[in-house]
Amino acid sequence: MLRRLLLLGAPGVGKGTQAVRLVQKLGIPQISTGDMLRAAVAAGTPMGREAAAYMERGDLVPDAVVIGVAEARLQEPDTERGFILDGFPRTTEQAQALDVILSRLGRRLERCVVLSVREDTLVERLRRRAEIEGRSDDNEASIRTRMEVYRRQTAPLIEYYRAQGILVELDGMGSMDEVARRIDGALAA
Ligand code: AMP
Repeated sequence: MLRRLLLLGAPGVGKGTQAVRLVQKLGIPQISTGDMLRAAVAAGTPMGREAAAYMERGDLVPDAVVIGVAEARLQEPDTERGFILDGFPRTTEQAQALDVILSRLGRRLERCVVLSVREDTLVERLRRRAEIEGRSDDNEASIRTRMEVYRRQTAPLIEYYRAQGILVELDGMGSMDEVARRIDGALAA
């Protein structure tokens, strides 16, 4: 199975759930810039303090900050056998930076899996997550902003990875197991 992976899709599409499953199945780390930023906010680091306001609103944290976080993580030795990028890159500038970072490490992405789910289902899932996890950016205004940010800034990456010949577009509707089967099929080398 391919092991240098990027999961792409709108907020609430199920990237995180599928990334955690792949971590267990493949024994490679999930790299979630969202998780790393939330940890920095919780720890009250200078970076966390800078990122908090953007995250609360549902806006993107500046590229330079996020690229630095991702680069440091990709240099950790546990990524040598593979990794699952979840929530990074989110802009063309981040995608270009990722290509440079990986090429310096002598690696390249093998698959970008984009999951798509109807928007009314996404919003419903995010509202439920707000109730269960209490994530402060799962409020109504932030949900709307994040959907718009995805459409405007992140969706163009679909064409970026199509041009690289590594894109697979999958239906993200249905149960977790159904989506898992589709993803596993797309990762068969
Ligand atoms: P996530 O958990 O991936 O949905 O990320 C939560 C929030 O963290 C996002 O709404 C952004 O504010 C911020 N964030 C996470 N990853 C990135 C990224 N690659 N670029 C910019 N902001 C990010």
